[in-house]
Order: sequence, then C-alpha cells, then structure tokens
Amino acid sequence: MPPKRRKLLGRRTAAASAARAARASETPEQTSLRLSQMASSSAARLSMESAAARTERLASAASTMSSRRARLSVEERSLQNSQGAVRVARLRASQSPAQKTLRRLRDAIVKACSRSLESPEQTTSRRHRNTRATAASRALEQPQETAHRRFRNALSTASARALESPAQTTVRRIINARSTASARALESPAQTTVRRVRNARSTASARVAENSEVRRQRLENISSFRASLNGVTSPSASFWSNVAYNYDCTVNYSARRDVQIGAMDKVCTFCNAKKWAGEQPGLCCSGGKIKLPSLDEPPQPLRDLLLGTTSESTHFLEAIRKYNCCFQMTSFGAKAISEGGWMPTFKVQGQVYHLMGSLLADQGEPPQFLQIYFLADYNEQVDAHLGILPSDISIGPRRDILFRLQDMLHETNSYIRSLKFALQNNSLPSFSVVIDADRPPHGEHERRFNAPVCNEIAAVIHGEEHNSRDIVIKYQGGGLRCISELHLSYDCLQYHFLFPYGSDGYHFKIPICQASSDSMSTSKTVSCRAYYAYMFMVREGQQYSHRPDLIARVFRLQLRKLMDLILKGQVFGRAKCHMYTVEWQKRGLPHAHILLWLNDKVDANKIDDFISAEIPDPALEPLLHEIIKKNMIHGPCGANYEKRSCWSSGPTCAKGYPRKFISETQTATDGYPLYRRRSPAEGGRTVTVKGHTLDNSWVVPYCPLLSKTFGAHINVEYCHSVKSIKYICKYVNKGSDAAVFGIRRDNCVDEVADYVAGRYLSSSEAFWRIFGFPIHQRAPAIVQRIVTAQELNAVSLTSYSTERWWP
Ligand SMILES: [Zn+2]
Ligand SMILES: [Zn+2]
Repeated sequence: MPPKRRKLLGRRTAAASAARAARASETPEQTSLRLSQMASSSAARLSMESAAARTERLASAASTMSSRRARLSVEERSLQNSQGAVRVARLRASQSPAQKTLRRLRDAIVKACSRSLESPEQTTSRRHRNTRATAASRALEQPQETAHRRFRNALSTASARALESPAQTTVRRIINARSTASARALESPAQTTVRRVRNARSTASARVAENSEVRRQRLENISSFRASLNGVTSPSASFWSNVAYNYDCTVNYSARRDVQIGAMDKVCTFCNAKKWAGEQPGLCCSGGKIKLPSLDEPPQPLRDLLLGTTSESTHFLEAIRKYNCCFQMTSFGAKAISEGGWMPTFKVQGQVYHLMGSLLADQGEPPQFLQIYFLADYNEQVDAHLGILPSDISIGPRRDILFRLQDMLHETNSYIRSLKFALQNNSLPSFSVVIDADRPPHGEHERRFNAPVCNEIAAVIHGEEHNSRDIVIKYQGGGLRCISELHLSYDCLQYHFLFPYGSDGYHFKIPICQASSDSMSTSKTVSCRAYYAYMFMVREGQQYSHRPDLIARVFRLQLRKLMDLILKGQVFGRAKCHMYTVEWQKRGLPHAHILLWLNDKVDANKIDDFISAEIPDPALEPLLHEIIKKNMIHGPCGANYEKRSCWSSGPTCAKGYPRKFISETQTATDGYPLYRRRSPAEGGRTVTVKGHTLDNSWVVPYCPLLSKTFGAHINVEYCHSVKSIKYICKYVNKGSDAAVFGIRRDNCVDEVADYVAGRYLSSSEAFWRIFGFPIHQRAPAIVQRIVTAQELNAVSLTSYSTERWWP
C-alpha cells in the first residue's frame, strides 16, 4: 500500500475512533438528535441528486465495496459477515417494538422506492443476482445449518401469521395467489415440467418421512380445510366419539349442523347449477369445461301443464308417459314382458331401440307415429294419436289436452314443420329425407327453432351416399328402420315434452371448452355421461318436481354424512376398516349395506346401549317414536295381513317376522344376537300401523342415535361370529340386481320359454351412474397376496397403511 494512502487511512481511522468515543458518551436524546440531523441532511442532499448522479454514486459505492470485499480472504469475509450480523442482531435486539416497526416500515419504503425506479432489465438482473447469491450460500450450508435456517424461517413465519387478523390473512393469500398465478403464466412448458417434477419429488420424500400420526393429521387438515371452503362441517370426534353407546334421549342430534347436508343453495360460478355444499365441484360442468345451451322455456300450453299447480296439470303429470306415447315420432322397440302381481313390473331384455317408418303410410294401412302428423284433418290426427294407446288403460289422456298439445307441436317443433315442408314440395315416390347424425354446427352447435322455412332436414334423391348413423326417411314403403342411439335426434323424436322445439340431444361433436376462456379450442369432446349430468342439473330460475336425480343426489350426500359420522365422528369408536355397497330395490329407491370393523371390541353387555328392537316410549321420546313407527316396523305381513313381497318365495316371511319375544338380549347363538323384545305382558309397547296394532315382535333392530339423527330406515346389527360377517361380506359384494326374464317366442305354441338373466336398472340407479357416484367403497384397500409365486409374496404393511380409512 502506498505510504500516502496508508497515512490517509490512519487519519480516517483516528477520526473514526474519535467519533466513536464521542458517540459512546452520547445520551440517547443526543443520539437521536444527531441521527435525525444526519438523516435530514442526507435526505436533502439525495433529493437534489439527479438520476444519473444517483446511479453513478450507487455504482461507485457498490464497486468500492465489492473491490474491498474481493481483497479479503474467504475466512476474513465470513468473519466480517458474522461480525456484521452480530452487530445488526445486537442493534435490533435493543430496539423497542415501535422502533422495529419503524425500521421495517422505513426499509420497506426505501426498498419499494428503489424498486419502483428499476427498469424491467434491472429487476430481472437483481433477481438473478439474488437467486445466484442465495443458491451459492445455500450450497455452502451444512445439513445442520439448512435445518436450522428452515426452522428459524418456519418459526418466524408462524409467529407472523399468528399475529395476523383474518382480513390480513385473506389479503396475504390473495397477494400470494396472484403472484403465483403471474409467475406461472410466464413459465415455459419446460419450466412447468421441471417445477412439477421438483414438487412431486419433494412431496414424495416428505410423505415417506411421515409417521402415521403426522399423516393422519395432514389428511384430517386437508379434509377439514376443503370442507370449510365449502361451508360444510364434518362431524368431529370431539362431540360424537362413542355417542352411540351413550345415547341421550334429551339431545336433538339431528339439529346439529355437522350432520346436516344443508340446503341446495350453492350456485356453480360457471354454469349456474344449484348444488349442495357437499357436492364435488365437477359434478355439473367439470369446472366450466362443459358449456351447453340452456334448456328453452317450454311453449304454452305445455308450460302450464308441467307446473303441477292446477288439477288439469296434476292429471297431465300423472299420465305424462301416455301423453308422450301419443306424440312420439318413433316407436319403442325391445323384447319386453309385463308382470302384474303385487308390484307390476315392465321388463325389457336386450337392447332398447327406436324405430321409424316412412313419411306416408303404405297403401291401405292406417297411419302410425310420424305419419299421423301429415293427416290433413287435425281431428283425425287426435284420434290417431289416441289410437296408439291400448284401450284398457286406467288414466287415459284427455282429448282436449291432446288437441292443444298437437297444435303446439305443429307450431313449434322444427321436425314436424320441416317434414311437412318437405312433403309439400316433393311428391316423387323416389324421394327420401335424411337427418344428419352429427350435423356440422352452424356457428354454434345450439340449434333452436328459427323460421318455418329453416330446413334442418335435407331432402335427397334416392341412392345418395350417407353416414350409417343418419336417419333416412322414405316417402313411402321400405318398412321400419332402427335409429342409431347415437343420433342427435334420438331423444327429441321420441320425447316431445322434453324437446318441444326439436332441439338436439347428445351427439359426438360437442367440444369441451377451456375452463379459463370461452373459446372451444380443444379437440376433446363431451362424453355422453357428462352431457346428461350437465343437462339434469337444476339451474337458477328452473322449476323442479318429480325428479329422481335429486333423490340420487340427496341419498349420496346423506350416505356420506352417515359415513362421516361413523368414521370421523367415531360414534361407535375408532373404526379399523369398513366397506359399503349401494343398491337399488326393485321399486328403485337406493339403500346401502355397510360393514364396519371396530378398533375396540364391543362388550356383549353393551349391545342394549346402542341397538334396540323395541318401540320407544312416545311420552319420553316423541320424535324417535314417530321415526321408528314410520321407518322401522316390518310389514305387517302374513296370513292375517296383506300379501307382501317377503312372502313371495316361501311359506313364511323371508325376513323372519314376527320375531319371538325375548326378555333379555342373548348373544350365545351363532350369528346375530337375539335382541330384547319384551311382550305386551312384560310391559312392551304397541303401536298402530296401517290400522293394525303391532308389538315389539315387528320391530327391525335399529340404533337410536342413528335413527334419531337421520330420521331414516337404518337397520343396525351386531355381528359376533365370522359366519355372519362372511355372509354380510358376500351380500355386500353380490353385484348388481338381476332380473330373470321369461321371453316367449312368438312362433312357439308350447310352454317353452327362454329365461335370460338381465340387469335391472331403475331411474334412480341410472342417475347414480350418470353423476358418476361410486357404488362401492372399502378401506383399507385389499391386497391379494400371491402365496404360490416365488419372489412375489412379500407384502409389507406399515402401521398407517392399515389406518387409511378416509373416504
Ligand atoms: Zn357447473
Ligand atoms: Zn315379512
């Protein structure tokens, strides 16, 4: 170092030590005075500075500092850094909370100011520099240091968040979400992939390190967070745990919010579907990916007839299928048989198909279906429509209503109008009409009825090429043709009251939208299931009644509530595993068979605490008494009562009712316990159902807590033998309801019939499938162990793989 410079440094150092000495003897007031003087003079100086001067000053300061640092060895630098850090830490520790706030505020303002002056390039380079510096310093960290840094950060984040007000939390989250979104919007596809892979790896490694308690807690947090976003509360174990054994008749369990499914008052932001809080967001429109035209308001008089507010409308709704039959353009075809008896059933075997004939009836034949619409006289038309129905039906359609509906269809239905137009303008016997199977969308795929001359139907000359799914209607003759169920007119030709204008049904070319925009830029198309799930949603401003879809949705929500009450609320204690299957009775209403294995064995003496087979006291328990009377009394069935389905397969009730009276619950037998059923002589109560006085021998075993909470038919039994568990297990897994069909061949006169097993599908089950609800659930998942295969028979179960029972 040149001597002159060394001298200069020495003087500086001497001046500096003098200043330090002076400062050490300052009173706090003097210090703050000096500092504020310095701050204001420096601020004044800086405010006079031009931008160029400022840049130059900063640059020279930075270069002085960096060259000074460059001269230091690594050890010296780290020593200096740690000394600086200690000094700063000491200074900060001595600050009062007010001073700290002030300092932070000042720092934030300075930082914000200097950043606001930055050009985009400067921002980018600053960020790069910071990232590099952070990466470099982290690369040098020892594992312990890393852990320490993380711990410190987590602590400071946690303490800062603990002090946040709810409004601050919301603001922070919004800011974070925005910055994440904008950062992601700038990502290249490769960067996205890298980020995802990195995240997946870190998640995977974090999960591996989890123990069962941490995992449990995490899953519980996620599910309660999701639920709280939706405004749904899950039954929590803190209230419900073991409540089934400690049932208190004075508690109104069903009034608790955590067991209620709430009202259908959530509205989808994409498609306006009304939903319950507990329903999954994708149920209606897959989060905005499906956009279909809204259903048109039905024309009059159909609109009033569908409302159900007048006696005429009540009659119409009661006979709506018959009315529909009168008007359909296509006829329903299938191998079908009808059965009478205690529950009349209409069974169909094989495929259902819709048939269509020619525009005009063959010579000498009466007009049928479509052909009726082209009769010149409207009175004759009504008679012909009525003639489609058999004459011996109980509630037949009224002629005056048919007449009005017929007028309406002639005016509004685009197919009737178009076909009439085609007939008037072509009379050659060689002419056919073709309805395109998936007509290319004109502008939008929505097809509404526009003007009378707007022809959706192309008249073609015989012999022209067409798609195999297209509907070809000949002028005359040619017999009946099947219509492809994949044709977009399949629904509207058969169901005029659902599609009074003749709008399109499902077809292959409905595009899926990008959720974020209105453009239909994807090549993916909407599936048939998703199409109907969308169409069957209840939307704002729509009337709804007679809806099996709502039965399916409410049952699904109630079942989930029940499972939540059992698994999360732990009303029977902790559950080790469970399984359930949803089934539909022949009458169509859904029910579930649930099997539950409990962690802690239930003492046989405790059975009476949670299962009863007796009529509750109406004075003490008016609500439960009503629920049991309405839902849990079997029959009555048998010789003295009406004939019921439980007697159809044998000389006694298939369910074993009436049961024997028993003074005390017995568990000695193999299978189920014999629950206490006291006779009237022993003080057992009686109840009047359908005019019959019935006693405890008719009560289906129930759990007072579950019955009172849900007010539904819930049969609860305690299985204490492997045999009964095996039986129930088989029952739960027995597969879908099957119906046996007897089909009589038309050309056979003998008694030989073909019996074919077919699957029975009710409207309620159909909706369950359309909405994609699960029909089966079990936890933990069952792993089949291959014992005979070498090398393949190692199965390891960790403690938490057996505890994964979250739905
Ligand atoms: Zn939606
Ligand atoms: Zn019976």
